[in-house]
Parts: sequence; C-alpha cells; structure tokens
Amino acid sequence: MSSRHPDPAELVACPTCDALYRFAPPGPRQTASCARCGTVLFAPRPGAIRTVLALALAALALMTIALDYPFLTMNANGLTAQASVIDAVSSYAVDDMAPLSLAIAVLILLLPTLRLLLLVYVTLPLVFGGRAWPGARTAFRLNVQLRPWSMAEIFMVGVAVAMVKVADLATISFGPAFWAFAAVALLLAAKDAVTCERTLWHILRAS
Ligand SMILES: [Zn+2]
Repeated sequence: MSSRHPDPAELVACPTCDALYRFAPPGPRQTASCARCGTVLFAPRPGAIRTVLALALAALALMTIALDYPFLTMNANGLTAQASVIDAVSSYAVDDMAPLSLAIAVLILLLPTLRLLLLVYVTLPLVFGGRAWPGARTAFRLNVQLRPWSMAEIFMVGVAVAMVKVADLATISFGPAFWAFAAVALLLAAKDAVTCERTLWHILRAS
C-alpha cells in the first residue's frame, strides 16, 4: 500500500489468497492479476458500459411489450381465458389479498424497471463521453441496493412451475408478453454479468 490511509472502498482483495491491493482500473486490453497467486482480478472489456446501456434500453423496450400484450391463453373444455401480466398482478387485488397484489407489482414490475432507469441515467452520459449527471452515484448505489428485491426472473421461474402443474388440465399457449418477459429476465441477467461495479464506481468517483 502506497498510502497510510487508503480509502477502504478503493481496496480490492484477491478472492483466492486475500492479498490486498489498491484498485486502479487496467487500461484497454490489460488485465490485473494477483502478484502473489496469479488470479485474474480484472479483465475489462472495451465498450462494456455501452453494452450495459444497450442491454438496459433493450430490457426497458421489452418491458413495455410485456405489459401491453397477452401473457398466456388457457383453453379448457371449450372455455378460453387470456391473461396479461397486469391481470396476474391485479387478480390478487381483492379484500385482504391486496397487499400481495401490491408486493407482486413492486417486485416483478416496478423495481426491475426502476433499476433499469437508474442504470440508464448513470451510463448514458458516460457512453457519450460526458461527465456523470448529478446524483449519478446515489442512483447507482440505489440500483445496487435494490438488486435483491428485483424478482422478474423469479416470476418467470414461478410461471414455469405453474405451467407444468396446469399443463394436464388445460391447453396453454404463450402470448407475445410471455416471450418479452422471458427475454427481459435474460437481459437483466446479462446486464448484471457485464456490469463491473468497481469500474463504474471508479469512473463515477472521478467524474
Ligand atoms: Zn491472490
């Protein structure tokens, strides 16, 4: 350590041998490895922030399709029922089940959308070479803190389980919203995989 009082947020521990380093982002096509055990600590991809922004915008666009179009259609004994994501959320909005309805809306729709909007706010000016917009650090911190509460992917897993259970009783066909929501879940996972929190923090601190 070159300084006697390093900022703890700037310290990086090697996940293999716990050696401590002060974080400095490697340049393009450089990688940072642990000097003691050789574990690769950072391997930045050029244009990663642009990829994050593109994934976030694509997920937002698909989210609007997921809300507007039918999610699935069920056919049993000549009766057909069609449901959208909004129908699924509001079907619990009766009597004392209303809080559940609100919780589903917040966890599978509002928070994932809010996280995407926050990420767009943080990355958009950086992609175009400008300084971060006011409050970008707060926006990014909120985006990170909300991650455990953003459950669009878990909703899709729940839908898949329900489909297996219902498949014997009714014929199910998937609407555009189903595929849009499935794509949103994949894009959200890809976006989180591409986002290097430490690199973004470093850029936001510097700007
Ligand atoms: Zn190491």
